[in-house]
Amino acid sequence: MTKKDYYEILGVGRNSSNDEIKSAYRKLAMKYHPDRNPGNKEAEESFKECAEAYEVLSDPQKRSRYDQFGHQGVNQTGFSGFDNINDIFSHFGDIFGGFGGGSIFDEIFGGGSSQRGRRRSQGIPGSDLKISLKLTYEEIADGVEKTLKIKKFKPCSSCGGTGAKSGSGYVTCSVCNGQGQVRQVSHSIFGQFVNVSECHNCNGEGKIIRDKCPNCGGDGREKTDETINVKVPAGVSEGQYIPLKGKGNAGVRGGHAGDLLVFIEEEKHKYFIRDNDDIIFNFNISIMDAILGADVVVPTLNSKAKLKIEPGTQSGSILRMRDKGIRHLNSGGRGDQLVRIHVFIPKKISAKEKNLLKELMKSDNFNPESKDAKGFFKSMFD
Ligand SMILES: [Zn+2]
Ligand SMILES: [Zn+2]
Repeated sequence: MTKKDYYEILGVGRNSSNDEIKSAYRKLAMKYHPDRNPGNKEAEESFKECAEAYEVLSDPQKRSRYDQFGHQGVNQTGFSGFDNINDIFSHFGDIFGGFGGGSIFDEIFGGGSSQRGRRRSQGIPGSDLKISLKLTYEEIADGVEKTLKIKKFKPCSSCGGTGAKSGSGYVTCSVCNGQGQVRQVSHSIFGQFVNVSECHNCNGEGKIIRDKCPNCGGDGREKTDETINVKVPAGVSEGQYIPLKGKGNAGVRGGHAGDLLVFIEEEKHKYFIRDNDDIIFNFNISIMDAILGADVVVPTLNSKAKLKIEPGTQSGSILRMRDKGIRHLNSGGRGDQLVRIHVFIPKKISAKEKNLLKELMKSDNFNPESKDAKGFFKSMFD
């Protein structure tokens, strides 16, 4: 099944601003909101589809990847859309006007909103971690596997992440009666408003630990150093990131873990210049090789290769070595290496060499104004 274009889904142009995208998403999310379309599978699918489009287009990095590479560009990095509605609420709480996504709809529908999406299943989600990873062009050219050392929270080893002293268990929160949220109804001349907010006594969890675990103080997590292997595909560039799902901080009391976002940084090369997936290499040749031609060997990113210099090669000309550049991200093939020729002019020469050159000067072939050199300055002044 081919996926629909994200811009089309939200009904916005490719150049639309973040605000336009946000407002388009908001409108559609209201239209397809599950509370408004109970039991309507089609509406639920559209609701998910819009959320996925918004998730990508509202993030400048994901958007630019999507613009460049289409769906593949965002899928490659582990993004696979939303499986359930709760994910959407927890992701875009802000756009729905606050905690968990309920309140804006409560206002519109007079408080009839269901429990869906507001109750956390368990604990408090862990935060995402960001780490930058410096890569050489050699590594980027063919892809590389890297080992990262990170400091993060993992589930507490004493209590298994529950936060409770062994055997102590939980009691239902008495403030919200286990609902995790508190409802306040206010009456105004415009009618009845229902405001739902997170229970402060239990942080929305609906339950409270009887005795806290002494190792983690009831958080259900502890600090750790972790070693993580990450496969970096070939062709990545500065600013892109690889999300490792669930490799971020562990959640509080069993809440699901955040992601680890590995941001790519490029290390500049002493000799090679990157131009998208092409590699530019400046190469000095002698006057003799430029005139007579030569077979030379030039370095490439992870090897070396033969290059034919044709007789009469001009300084500044660019010779293309096919497929010697960086492998394309998300597609077959690779860039080229472009060899920019510089004809080396010696600064010091001997008397003997000087005489040889003076001898050559008598030959019209070395005269830039000759017919063969297509000299034109002289004719400009005639
Ligand atoms: Zn613990
Ligand atoms: Zn409570």
